[in-house]
Amino acid sequence: MIGPGFPPWGYDSDNGPDQWHKDYPNAKGRHQSPIEINNKDVHYDSSLLPWFASYDPGAAKTILNNGKTCRVVFDDSFDRSVLRGGPLPGVFRLRQLHFHWGSSDDHGSEHVVNGVRYAGELHMLHWNPKYSNYLDARRRTDGVAALAIFLQVGETPKPEMKRILEEINAIKTKGKEAPFPNFDPSILFPKSHDYWTYHGSFTTPPCEECITWIILREPIIVSSDQWIAWMLLQPDGNRILATRMAKLRSLSKNAENEPDRPLVDNWRPTQPRYFRMGKSCLANSMKFCNGMSDLVGEESAADTVYLDFSEALDNVPHKILVGKLLIYRLDEQALRWTENWLNGQVQRVVFRSMEPTGSQ
Ligand SMILES: [Zn+2]
Repeated sequence: MIGPGFPPWGYDSDNGPDQWHKDYPNAKGRHQSPIEINNKDVHYDSSLLPWFASYDPGAAKTILNNGKTCRVVFDDSFDRSVLRGGPLPGVFRLRQLHFHWGSSDDHGSEHVVNGVRYAGELHMLHWNPKYSNYLDARRRTDGVAALAIFLQVGETPKPEMKRILEEINAIKTKGKEAPFPNFDPSILFPKSHDYWTYHGSFTTPPCEECITWIILREPIIVSSDQWIAWMLLQPDGNRILATRMAKLRSLSKNAENEPDRPLVDNWRPTQPRYFRMGKSCLANSMKFCNGMSDLVGEESAADTVYLDFSEALDNVPHKILVGKLLIYRLDEQALRWTENWLNGQVQRVVFRSMEPTGSQ
């Protein structure tokens, strides 16, 4: 957080994570983030539900460089882009997403998984609208939900992705901001929605302990040289955005007229866990049906039903949670109603069982 009353902080030796507690005592709290996640300390919780995001591409506003990260800001004046389910007590509004990254590919993520550091970590921040605003929510234990996605370096050539380059060039130095319309961040999600969850804090000052973390187990693949897939849904068809680690590293933490200082290593080391235990939700056992009619009379052990719009949206993963099979069962009439309502947009239906099927 930056602004009046917030002393400056950064990631250098004189103002970095080791120093933050001097101005921001929360940084020495007992629920600080990030943490290292170890399989042996995680327990599988069968009561955890799948999470679900419903994002409105029109809510995307701007992309900016604040000298500490690259951030995309969304309109959160109403329940427009929301995250729900999982460990969350209700709907949470998307406010912004940003990245943490390293100076090279072997580090950069904030959370560490079984000793592994990824090249970067994407955070999508949502706040609980039962509080009057984002700042108020940050003061409450259940105020903020953060969805974290790891960036792993690998080969994923996406030669057609160009726009993010232009956007990053437009925000090269601290204080720069550019319009960033029509962006649905859910296309950044990996295939699997398996997650770990625990209660923690912001990883930047003032390090408030208000965050329900939902950390996705499957990373998304980026490459040092190739693009990562940032796809942009537009009314005139699909457009694709991209960035890459090298491009993130080309950002600067100085303002335009100052000497160049590259913006790299904007991550906080892991913090003591004290007595916190992570919980996991594994959703490995997915089954697919080829159409709505397969649902008729279906009684499945799976407890959640999604409608999958991927093909309608040109293979952009896009699923809508419709309900629990345990609660209702589709009959012919319900099928016709649902099909009319969906206007034939559904390509397949996904049953998701919450039973663990593999190792945790
Ligand atoms: Zn972050």
